[in-house]
Amino acid sequence: MSYDKQTILIVDDVATDIQMLANALQEDYRILVALKGEAVMEIATAYPKPDLILLDIMMPEVDGYTICKQLKSNPETMSIPVVFVTALHKNDDQERGLNLGAVDYITKPFHLPIVKARIRNHMLLKLKTDQLEELSHLDGLTGVANRRHFDEMFSKEQGRLHRLGGCLSLIMLDIDYFKLFNDNYGHGTGDACLIDVAKALSGIIKRPTDVVARYGGEEFVVILPDTDLDGAMQVAQGLHDEVNRLAIEHSFSPVAPHITISLGVASLTAEPGIETLPDLLKQADDALYQAKETGRNRICTLETCRT
Ligand code: GH3
Ligand code: MG
Ligand code: MG
Repeated sequence: MSYDKQTILIVDDVATDIQMLANALQEDYRILVALKGEAVMEIATAYPKPDLILLDIMMPEVDGYTICKQLKSNPETMSIPVVFVTALHKNDDQERGLNLGAVDYITKPFHLPIVKARIRNHMLLKLKTDQLEELSHLDGLTGVANRRHFDEMFSKEQGRLHRLGGCLSLIMLDIDYFKLFNDNYGHGTGDACLIDVAKALSGIIKRPTDVVARYGGEEFVVILPDTDLDGAMQVAQGLHDEVNRLAIEHSFSPVAPHITISLGVASLTAEPGIETLPDLLKQADDALYQAKETGRNRICTLETCRT
């Protein structure tokens, strides 16, 4: 599910103030509202996350300063820009709000055209920031996740396995004799091949929690959360077969007349709270090495290989 409009959360205990802001903004943005500070954290961590929070300061029970502090100290919400919208217009109040990490401070009574213009600027900046954030996780050539994203996701999954137990699998794979391909067909054709292979791999990976990443040059890695060895072997077989099906000509490969890949699969099932987890990445890498050593164009675990 994706929304084409950015989302603004308006937090105010006075319904008429919310209404006035919502009326001015609802044409351009998706609007969420909260009449109580206590509701903010729940809304701000749900999907779709707000892109901006307009936060009243004076509210009964929990005030806006406290909410802002909570938002800024939670990793899930700390990057959502907060704009204070308040009747408090003394310099001290503004200073306090801005020092808590708010990006702006708008005073009541509203002058709506200025409010709209300021919010538009903040929203444009948020859009740019989101785009850069997304790009920083993608491999520039193939468009799949990059090494950095893999490292983040893999460490998250390992953390989850450590806490909750369960299973986790990794597939490392590498194109066979790709140097010969590049040397003979040229670097541009090599790049095009990498793009096609990445696309084929992504097409096989179905679960939203699975991640295909380019690990380096012509090497890819797949994270399969909640997947045991049997499941991982099935996925690996799917990846292997799909790359074969592409039938990208490679007349210089000693193993086949087309591009092939070698795959190493490693899987882990753990009880919750286990002290040290085995190094799954090294196991997958060692399994890939075995696939290369025993003839390429095959799928290996540390124990067995199949073609
Ligand atoms: P092996 O079967 O043992 O994996 O042999 P290989 O030739 O595939 O492996 P090697 O590591 O010797 O060579 C990898 C080659 O991949 C080197 C380089 O020419 C190519 N390569 C790496 N990254 C890129 C890239 O981004 N674009 C292109 N076109 N080629 C790349
Ligand atoms: Mg290779
Ligand atoms: Mg390599």
